[in-house]
Amino acid sequence: MSLNKIVLVLSKKILEKYDLCDYCLGRLFVKKLNLKSNKLLGKKLNSNKKNRCYICKNIFDNLDYFIKMMLNNSSNYEYSSFSIGIILKPSIIERDDIIRSKFKLQGIDGIKTSIIQEITKNFSKKTKKILDNRDPDIVFTINFKDDSLETRTKPIYLYGRYLKNERKLQQKQKSCDNCSGKGCRTCLFHGISEFNSIEGIVSKFVFQKVGGTITKFSWVGSEDKTSLVKGCGRPFFIKLFNPNIRTMKKTSFKDESIEIISLKTIPTMPKMPVDFSSTLECKISSKQPIEKTSLKKLLTISNNPVIVYEKSGKRFEKSITLYDYKPITSHEFVIFLKFDGGLPVKRFVQGDDVSPSISSILNSTCTSLEFDFLDVQIK
Ligand SMILES: [Zn+2]
Ligand SMILES: [Zn+2]
Repeated sequence: MSLNKIVLVLSKKILEKYDLCDYCLGRLFVKKLNLKSNKLLGKKLNSNKKNRCYICKNIFDNLDYFIKMMLNNSSNYEYSSFSIGIILKPSIIERDDIIRSKFKLQGIDGIKTSIIQEITKNFSKKTKKILDNRDPDIVFTINFKDDSLETRTKPIYLYGRYLKNERKLQQKQKSCDNCSGKGCRTCLFHGISEFNSIEGIVSKFVFQKVGGTITKFSWVGSEDKTSLVKGCGRPFFIKLFNPNIRTMKKTSFKDESIEIISLKTIPTMPKMPVDFSSTLECKISSKQPIEKTSLKKLLTISNNPVIVYEKSGKRFEKSITLYDYKPITSHEFVIFLKFDGGLPVKRFVQGDDVSPSISSILNSTCTSLEFDFLDVQIK
Protein backbone atom coordinates (compact mmCIF):
# COMPACT_ATOMS: atom_id res chain seq x y z
CA MET A 1 0.00 0.00 0.00
CA SER A 2 1.29 3.47 -0.78
CA LEU A 3 1.81 5.94 2.01
CA ASN A 4 -1.13 8.00 0.83
CA LYS A 5 -3.35 4.95 0.92
CA ILE A 6 -2.22 4.02 4.43
CA VAL A 7 -3.01 7.51 5.65
CA LEU A 8 -6.38 7.47 3.94
CA VAL A 9 -7.34 4.15 5.50
CA LEU A 10 -6.12 5.08 8.96
CA SER A 11 -7.77 8.51 8.96
CA LYS A 12 -11.04 6.90 7.91
CA LYS A 13 -10.74 4.43 10.74
CA ILE A 14 -10.13 7.26 13.23
CA LEU A 15 -13.03 9.34 11.88
CA GLU A 16 -15.40 6.42 12.24
CA LYS A 17 -14.97 6.62 15.99
CA TYR A 18 -13.97 10.26 16.60
CA ASP A 19 -14.93 13.58 15.11
CA LEU A 20 -11.84 15.66 14.56
CA CYS A 21 -11.33 19.15 13.21
CA ASP A 22 -9.15 19.73 10.15
CA TYR A 23 -6.26 20.96 12.28
CA CYS A 24 -6.21 17.96 14.60
CA LEU A 25 -6.73 15.38 11.86
CA GLY A 26 -4.14 16.93 9.55
CA ARG A 27 -1.63 17.12 12.40
CA LEU A 28 -1.71 13.33 12.81
CA PHE A 29 -0.37 12.75 9.29
CA VAL A 30 1.24 15.96 8.08
CA LYS A 31 4.78 14.95 9.04
CA LYS A 32 4.44 11.45 7.62
CA LEU A 33 3.46 12.92 4.27
CA ASN A 34 6.07 15.64 4.43
CA LEU A 35 3.49 18.35 4.14
CA LYS A 36 3.29 21.74 5.87
CA SER A 37 -0.28 22.67 6.57
CA ASN A 38 -2.28 20.66 9.09
CA LYS A 39 -5.39 22.50 8.08
CA LEU A 40 -5.14 21.80 4.33
CA LEU A 41 -4.34 18.13 4.84
CA GLY A 42 -7.14 17.80 7.37
CA LYS A 43 -9.56 19.37 4.93
CA LYS A 44 -8.64 16.81 2.29
CA LEU A 45 -9.05 13.85 4.60
CA ASN A 46 -12.11 15.13 6.41
CA SER A 47 -15.00 14.97 3.98
CA ASN A 48 -17.98 14.84 6.30
CA LYS A 49 -17.27 16.26 9.71
CA LYS A 50 -20.35 17.07 11.75
CA ASN A 51 -19.62 17.50 15.43
CA ARG A 52 -17.13 19.32 17.55
CA CYS A 53 -13.57 18.07 17.50
CA TYR A 54 -13.05 15.28 20.02
CA ILE A 55 -9.58 16.50 20.94
CA CYS A 56 -9.67 20.30 20.97
CA LYS A 57 -13.40 21.11 21.02
CA ASN A 58 -12.77 23.41 18.05
CA ILE A 59 -10.26 25.58 19.86
CA PHE A 60 -8.78 26.64 16.51
CA ASP A 61 -11.99 28.48 15.61
CA ASN A 62 -11.42 30.81 18.56
CA LEU A 63 -7.78 31.70 18.10
CA ASP A 64 -8.60 35.07 16.53
CA TYR A 65 -10.01 36.20 19.84
CA PHE A 66 -6.63 35.64 21.51
CA ILE A 67 -4.65 37.10 18.65
CA LYS A 68 -6.72 40.27 18.91
CA MET A 69 -6.01 40.37 22.62
CA MET A 70 -2.27 39.96 21.92
CA LEU A 71 -2.33 42.77 19.38
CA ASN A 72 -4.14 44.97 21.85
CA ASN A 73 -1.82 44.29 24.77
CA SER A 74 1.38 44.45 22.77
CA SER A 75 0.53 47.81 21.26
CA ASN A 76 1.75 49.32 24.56
CA TYR A 77 5.19 47.79 24.20
CA GLU A 78 8.23 48.31 22.06
CA TYR A 79 9.55 44.93 20.85
CA SER A 80 10.93 43.23 17.81
CA SER A 81 10.81 39.57 18.81
CA PHE A 82 8.27 37.50 20.68
CA SER A 83 7.48 34.05 21.96
CA ILE A 84 4.22 32.41 22.93
CA GLY A 85 3.37 30.01 25.72
CA ILE A 86 -0.04 28.49 26.35
CA ILE A 87 -1.83 26.81 29.20
CA LEU A 88 -4.41 24.24 28.16
CA LYS A 89 -7.00 22.30 30.09
CA PRO A 90 -5.40 18.94 30.92
CA SER A 91 -8.40 17.15 29.39
CA ILE A 92 -7.41 18.38 25.92
CA ILE A 93 -3.93 16.93 26.25
CA GLU A 94 -5.36 13.69 27.66
CA ARG A 95 -7.67 13.26 24.69
CA ASP A 96 -4.82 14.00 22.31
CA ASP A 97 -2.79 11.26 24.04
CA ILE A 98 -5.68 8.81 23.78
CA ILE A 99 -5.90 9.19 19.99
CA ARG A 100 -2.16 8.98 19.57
CA SER A 101 -1.75 5.81 21.59
CA LYS A 102 -4.91 4.11 20.35
CA PHE A 103 -3.87 4.47 16.71
CA LYS A 104 -0.13 4.12 17.41
CA LEU A 105 0.73 7.51 15.92
CA GLN A 106 4.33 8.43 16.54
CA GLY A 107 6.54 11.40 15.72
CA ILE A 108 3.71 13.90 15.49
CA ASP A 109 3.34 17.32 17.07
CA GLY A 110 1.17 17.52 20.16
CA ILE A 111 -1.95 19.66 20.29
CA LYS A 112 -0.12 22.31 22.30
CA THR A 113 2.61 22.76 19.69
CA SER A 114 0.03 22.89 16.98
CA ILE A 115 -1.96 25.66 18.68
CA ILE A 116 1.20 27.69 19.37
CA GLN A 117 2.27 27.32 15.73
CA GLU A 118 -1.07 28.51 14.47
CA ILE A 119 -1.12 31.56 16.74
CA THR A 120 2.51 32.36 15.96
CA LYS A 121 1.88 32.19 12.23
CA ASN A 122 -1.09 34.56 12.40
CA PHE A 123 0.47 36.93 14.90
CA SER A 124 3.74 37.38 13.03
CA LYS A 125 1.87 37.84 9.78
CA LYS A 126 -0.11 40.69 11.35
CA THR A 127 2.78 42.34 13.21
CA LYS A 128 5.83 41.45 11.09
CA LYS A 129 7.63 40.64 14.34
CA ILE A 130 10.04 37.73 14.69
CA LEU A 131 9.52 34.58 16.71
CA ASP A 132 12.43 34.07 19.11
CA ASN A 133 12.04 31.35 21.69
CA ARG A 134 15.47 31.85 23.22
CA ASP A 135 15.58 35.53 24.13
CA PRO A 136 12.40 37.31 23.08
CA ASP A 137 11.64 40.94 23.88
CA ILE A 138 8.10 39.98 24.80
CA VAL A 139 6.49 36.75 26.01
CA PHE A 140 2.77 36.09 25.72
CA THR A 141 1.20 33.45 27.89
CA ILE A 142 -2.32 32.54 26.89
CA ASN A 143 -4.34 30.72 29.49
CA PHE A 144 -7.12 28.79 27.79
CA LYS A 145 -8.48 27.74 31.17
CA ASP A 146 -9.74 31.24 31.93
CA ASP A 147 -9.31 32.96 28.55
CA SER A 148 -6.68 35.32 29.92
CA LEU A 149 -3.47 36.66 28.49
CA GLU A 150 -0.30 37.61 30.35
CA THR A 151 2.22 39.85 28.62
CA ARG A 152 5.78 40.16 29.91
CA THR A 153 8.71 42.00 28.43
CA LYS A 154 12.39 41.27 28.86
CA PRO A 155 14.05 43.46 31.53
CA ILE A 156 16.23 46.38 30.52
CA TYR A 157 19.19 47.84 32.41
CA LEU A 158 19.87 51.46 33.25
CA TYR A 159 22.86 53.31 34.59
CA GLY A 160 22.98 56.76 36.13
CA ARG A 161 24.41 58.88 38.95
CA TYR A 162 22.79 61.05 41.58
CA LEU A 163 23.75 64.12 43.52
CA LYS A 164 22.06 64.71 46.84
CA ASN A 165 21.71 68.33 47.87
CA GLU A 166 19.63 68.08 51.04
CA ARG A 167 20.14 66.14 54.25
CA LYS A 168 16.78 64.45 54.35
CA LEU A 169 16.42 61.66 51.82
CA GLN A 170 16.84 57.94 52.43
CA GLN A 171 18.67 56.12 49.70
CA LYS A 172 16.34 53.11 49.65
CA GLN A 173 12.58 52.99 49.35
CA LYS A 174 10.42 51.06 51.78
CA SER A 175 8.51 48.19 50.11
CA CYS A 176 4.75 48.28 49.62
CA ASP A 177 3.08 47.24 52.90
CA ASN A 178 0.56 45.13 51.09
CA CYS A 179 2.89 42.88 49.08
CA SER A 180 6.34 43.41 50.65
CA GLY A 181 7.72 44.43 47.28
CA LYS A 182 6.44 41.64 45.07
CA GLY A 183 3.98 43.91 43.31
CA CYS A 184 0.22 44.02 43.78
CA ARG A 185 -2.79 46.00 42.62
CA THR A 186 -2.42 48.53 45.45
CA CYS A 187 1.07 49.53 44.32
CA LEU A 188 0.26 49.15 40.60
CA PHE A 189 2.69 46.21 40.56
CA HIS A 190 5.65 48.45 41.36
CA GLY A 191 6.39 46.84 44.73
CA ILE A 192 6.67 50.34 46.20
CA SER A 193 3.79 52.68 46.88
CA GLU A 194 5.63 55.79 48.09
CA PHE A 195 8.26 57.74 46.23
CA ASN A 196 10.07 59.66 48.97
CA SER A 197 13.62 58.34 48.67
CA ILE A 198 16.30 58.41 46.01
CA GLU A 199 15.16 54.98 44.86
CA GLY A 200 11.54 56.15 44.85
CA ILE A 201 12.16 59.41 42.98
CA VAL A 202 14.32 57.70 40.34
CA SER A 203 11.84 54.84 39.97
CA LYS A 204 8.94 57.22 39.47
CA PHE A 205 10.88 59.02 36.76
CA VAL A 206 11.79 55.73 35.05
CA PHE A 207 8.18 54.50 35.17
CA GLN A 208 7.04 57.73 33.51
CA LYS A 209 9.74 57.58 30.85
CA VAL A 210 9.86 53.93 29.85
CA GLY A 211 7.09 52.24 31.84
CA GLY A 212 7.75 48.97 33.60
CA THR A 213 6.69 47.37 36.85
CA ILE A 214 9.52 46.79 39.33
CA THR A 215 12.90 48.49 39.59
CA LYS A 216 15.75 46.60 41.19
CA PHE A 217 18.61 48.88 42.22
CA SER A 218 22.28 48.02 42.56
CA TRP A 219 23.99 50.88 44.35
CA VAL A 220 27.65 51.69 44.13
CA GLY A 221 28.02 52.25 47.88
CA SER A 222 25.59 53.79 50.31
CA GLU A 223 25.24 56.82 52.55
CA ASP A 224 23.26 58.08 55.49
CA LYS A 225 19.91 59.82 55.31
CA THR A 226 21.71 62.99 56.44
CA SER A 227 24.65 62.67 54.03
CA LEU A 228 25.07 64.78 50.93
CA VAL A 229 26.50 63.39 47.70
CA LYS A 230 28.54 65.85 45.68
CA GLY A 231 31.09 65.78 42.87
CA CYS A 232 30.05 63.59 39.95
CA GLY A 233 27.49 61.84 42.12
CA ARG A 234 26.98 58.25 43.21
CA PRO A 235 26.60 55.71 40.40
CA PHE A 236 23.75 53.18 40.41
CA PHE A 237 22.35 50.48 38.17
CA ILE A 238 18.74 49.47 37.69
CA LYS A 239 17.18 46.32 36.37
CA LEU A 240 13.72 47.30 35.18
CA PHE A 241 11.12 44.58 34.76
CA ASN A 242 8.46 44.72 32.05
CA PRO A 243 9.50 47.96 30.39
CA ASN A 244 7.21 49.40 27.72
CA ILE A 245 10.08 51.07 25.92
CA ARG A 246 13.44 49.38 25.51
CA THR A 247 15.82 52.31 25.20
CA MET A 248 16.31 55.58 27.00
CA LYS A 249 18.77 58.17 25.78
CA LYS A 250 20.98 59.96 28.29
CA THR A 251 18.63 61.97 30.47
CA SER A 252 19.22 64.23 33.45
CA PHE A 253 16.64 65.71 35.78
CA LYS A 254 16.43 67.70 38.95
CA ASP A 255 14.15 67.26 41.92
CA GLU A 256 14.09 69.69 44.84
CA SER A 257 16.67 67.65 46.73
CA ILE A 258 18.38 65.40 44.21
CA GLU A 259 19.82 65.64 40.77
CA ILE A 260 20.00 62.66 38.42
CA ILE A 261 22.76 62.74 35.86
CA SER A 262 23.11 60.82 32.62
CA LEU A 263 20.50 58.16 33.25
CA LYS A 264 20.36 55.85 30.24
CA THR A 265 19.85 52.26 29.17
CA ILE A 266 22.89 49.99 28.99
CA PRO A 267 23.13 46.59 27.24
CA THR A 268 23.83 44.46 30.33
CA MET A 269 24.39 44.69 34.03
CA PRO A 270 28.04 44.80 35.17
CA LYS A 271 29.28 42.07 37.50
CA MET A 272 28.36 43.02 41.05
CA PRO A 273 29.84 44.25 43.29
CA VAL A 274 31.73 46.78 41.16
CA ASP A 275 35.07 48.17 42.38
CA PHE A 276 34.83 51.78 43.42
CA SER A 277 36.50 54.42 45.54
CA SER A 278 34.95 57.13 47.69
CA THR A 279 36.12 60.53 48.80
CA LEU A 280 34.47 61.62 52.00
CA GLU A 281 34.25 64.61 54.29
CA CYS A 282 33.27 63.92 57.88
CA LYS A 283 32.42 66.40 60.62
CA ILE A 284 33.36 65.08 64.04
CA SER A 285 32.75 66.14 67.60
CA SER A 286 35.13 65.21 70.38
CA LYS A 287 34.24 64.88 74.05
CA GLN A 288 37.62 66.19 75.19
CA PRO A 289 39.00 69.40 73.73
CA ILE A 290 41.49 68.71 70.95
CA GLU A 291 44.61 70.75 70.37
CA LYS A 292 45.17 71.84 66.82
CA THR A 293 48.57 70.15 66.83
CA SER A 294 47.29 66.78 67.99
CA LEU A 295 44.97 66.63 64.96
CA LYS A 296 48.13 66.07 62.98
CA LYS A 297 48.31 62.57 64.48
CA LEU A 298 45.30 61.67 62.35
CA LEU A 299 47.51 61.54 59.28
CA THR A 300 49.08 58.31 60.64
CA ILE A 301 45.89 56.47 59.74
CA SER A 302 47.14 56.30 56.16
CA ASN A 303 50.25 54.31 57.19
CA ASN A 304 48.61 51.07 58.27
CA PRO A 305 45.50 49.16 57.31
CA VAL A 306 42.39 49.79 59.38
CA ILE A 307 40.79 46.58 60.64
CA VAL A 308 37.01 46.33 60.65
CA TYR A 309 35.44 43.54 62.73
CA GLU A 310 31.98 42.44 61.68
CA LYS A 311 29.29 41.02 63.97
CA SER A 312 29.50 37.79 61.99
CA GLY A 313 33.06 37.31 63.26
CA LYS A 314 34.61 38.21 59.93
CA ARG A 315 37.26 40.90 59.78
CA PHE A 316 38.59 42.82 56.87
CA GLU A 317 41.39 45.26 56.29
CA LYS A 318 40.91 48.61 54.68
CA SER A 319 43.43 51.07 53.53
CA ILE A 320 42.19 54.57 54.23
CA THR A 321 43.93 57.74 53.16
CA LEU A 322 43.28 60.69 55.43
CA TYR A 323 44.46 63.49 53.22
CA ASP A 324 43.35 66.57 55.11
CA TYR A 325 41.77 67.84 58.32
CA LYS A 326 40.45 71.15 59.57
CA PRO A 327 39.74 72.29 63.12
CA ILE A 328 36.41 74.10 63.59
CA THR A 329 36.23 74.64 67.36
CA SER A 330 38.10 73.06 70.26
CA HIS A 331 35.55 70.21 70.21
CA GLU A 332 34.82 69.92 66.50
CA PHE A 333 36.85 69.24 63.40
CA VAL A 334 36.53 67.91 59.87
CA ILE A 335 38.50 65.11 58.21
CA PHE A 336 38.85 64.22 54.53
CA LEU A 337 39.21 60.56 53.57
CA LYS A 338 39.71 58.44 50.50
CA PHE A 339 39.14 54.69 50.47
CA ASP A 340 38.06 51.80 48.28
CA GLY A 341 34.61 50.26 48.60
CA GLY A 342 32.38 50.93 51.59
CA LEU A 343 33.30 51.96 55.11
CA PRO A 344 31.24 51.98 58.31
CA VAL A 345 32.04 55.66 58.84
CA LYS A 346 30.38 56.15 62.22
CA ARG A 347 32.05 53.06 63.67
CA PHE A 348 35.39 54.13 62.23
CA VAL A 349 35.11 57.49 64.01
CA GLN A 350 33.84 56.06 67.27
CA GLY A 351 36.09 53.02 67.40
CA ASP A 352 33.24 50.56 67.52
CA ASP A 353 34.97 47.29 66.46
CA VAL A 354 37.21 49.24 64.11
CA SER A 355 40.90 49.67 64.87
CA PRO A 356 42.61 52.06 64.77
CA SER A 357 39.82 54.65 64.88
CA ILE A 358 39.64 58.42 65.12
CA SER A 359 38.79 58.07 68.83
CA SER A 360 41.74 55.79 69.54
CA ILE A 361 44.24 57.98 67.70
CA LEU A 362 43.11 61.15 69.45
CA ASN A 363 42.54 59.39 72.73
CA SER A 364 39.12 60.97 73.06
CA THR A 365 35.54 59.91 72.49
CA CYS A 366 34.69 61.08 69.01
CA THR A 367 31.38 60.97 67.18
CA SER A 368 30.55 61.52 63.54
CA LEU A 369 28.13 64.46 63.29
CA GLU A 370 27.59 64.15 59.55
CA PHE A 371 29.48 62.85 56.58
CA ASP A 372 29.23 63.79 52.92
CA PHE A 373 30.53 62.11 49.82
CA LEU A 374 32.67 64.42 47.76
CA ASP A 375 32.98 61.87 45.00
CA VAL A 376 32.39 58.23 44.13
CA GLN A 377 34.33 56.72 41.24
CA ILE A 378 33.94 53.36 39.57
CA LYS A 379 37.37 51.87 38.94
ZN1 LIG B 1 -9.29 19.76 16.92
ZN1 LIG C 1 2.16 46.10 46.54
